[in-house]
Amino acid sequence: MTWLELADGVYARRYEELDLTVGLVVGSDRCLVVDVRGDVEQGAELAAAVREITPLPWSVVYTHAHFDHAFGTTAFLPCDVWAHEGCVAELTTYGEGARLKWIQHYLGENRPEMAEALERTEITMPDKLVTDTAEIDLGGRTAVLRFLGHAHTDHDLFVHVPDAGIIFAGDAVENAEAGFSAFSFNDGSSLDGWPGVMDAILALAPKTIVAGHGDPVDTAFIEKHRDGLRELIALKTLIAAGDLTPDEAVARSPYPGDVTKAALATP
Ligand SMILES: [Zn+2]
Repeated sequence: MTWLELADGVYARRYEELDLTVGLVVGSDRCLVVDVRGDVEQGAELAAAVREITPLPWSVVYTHAHFDHAFGTTAFLPCDVWAHEGCVAELTTYGEGARLKWIQHYLGENRPEMAEALERTEITMPDKLVTDTAEIDLGGRTAVLRFLGHAHTDHDLFVHVPDAGIIFAGDAVENAEAGFSAFSFNDGSSLDGWPGVMDAILALAPKTIVAGHGDPVDTAFIEKHRDGLRELIALKTLIAAGDLTPDEAVARSPYPGDVTKAALATP
């Protein structure tokens, strides 16, 4: 894992664990850490890595409430923790259950050290809440936090750095190996809302979009991602009309069976 400098003072950092990507935006007065990894140990590693880049005071932003993005905050405290207002409800309702579920997951994978770190992890609630848009003055540059609609979750928050043409997209954009536009649907995802969110990203005309997992992507990737989502919506419509069986939809889908099934199951 190394820092990838995408523009002057704008970085992404890639991890083998869950193929996660986090970010860092550095101004002249302060810096903004985009997602904090998944447990108390991982967050401490990231905090130390940020200190290799800059000694400036930091704020944290969660792109969404999922544990691998939002549970590593402890080492950064005290600091401002930004998120969409819906993130609070998600962490309150599901945060502790997610922590316990992933402890079991890592025990099942025979990785007790990961389970143990999650056992020692305390979830930090965001205290700077965003409804639509918020601007953070970092000194010499502004980071704009934007809610663009319901996609991977109902509280996806995008971190836009306009002067660099970079958007951190969390898991609204995931880049699997070989450039495949994989994306994960969960109980909180909206298949119908997702393509419009991709259009909203494109309207901001970024040079680079930092995916929540995998390498950063360009706008062509976002267009392909949006078009693939629209194909899934069309399949869902055909099933609802009785013109297609779910198995036929899986066979026609451009995506793997598990992704297709999860997408078609979203409300
Ligand atoms: Zn996620």
